[in-house]
Amino acid sequence: MSADTDLGAAAPAPDQSRVHGFHGDYGWDGVERLPYKATEDAPFRDVARQVLASAPDLAAELRYFEVGPGGHTTLERHGHRHAVLVLRGRGRCLVGDAVSPIAPYDLVQISPWTWHQFRADPDRPLGFLCLVNAERDRPQLPTADQMAALKRTPAVAAFLDGGSTAARPKD
Ligand code: MN
Repeated sequence: MSADTDLGAAAPAPDQSRVHGFHGDYGWDGVERLPYKATEDAPFRDVARQVLASAPDLAAELRYFEVGPGGHTTLERHGHRHAVLVLRGRGRCLVGDAVSPIAPYDLVQISPWTWHQFRADPDRPLGFLCLVNAERDRPQLPTADQMAALKRTPAVAAFLDGGSTAARPKD
């Protein structure tokens, strides 16, 4: 049996080998800047998405999200996991019932079924890489009861109301 026959069962993966040069405005050559969840009626504000890596033989997708100054992602939870690496700006994130300041190059791990949201500081965009499963479930938005439960934690209530930024150590 030849090597060609051994390898012949699966279709060849598309050749995506290349270098996508990085631009100073947080874009990459050949990568389209897309509106965030344009087809969904989800509450978010001023978020752009770029899919950096996605292929049928890759079980994950690497995306870059950018939240405009004062903007925020959708408050959501789902069965898939996120690994987020902040690249640009500053902001805060809610993960579960904890609100944390974030800055480059903080790493944020979000486990399945954990409520999460990212908010940019008012004076600059917040950009981050987000790694997810290629095949994943759709996010759930909180019900009124779930939102009320989240807001029983004062720091979470302040975060969700878009209030004052959490105290952050000077650096
Ligand atoms: Mn999510």
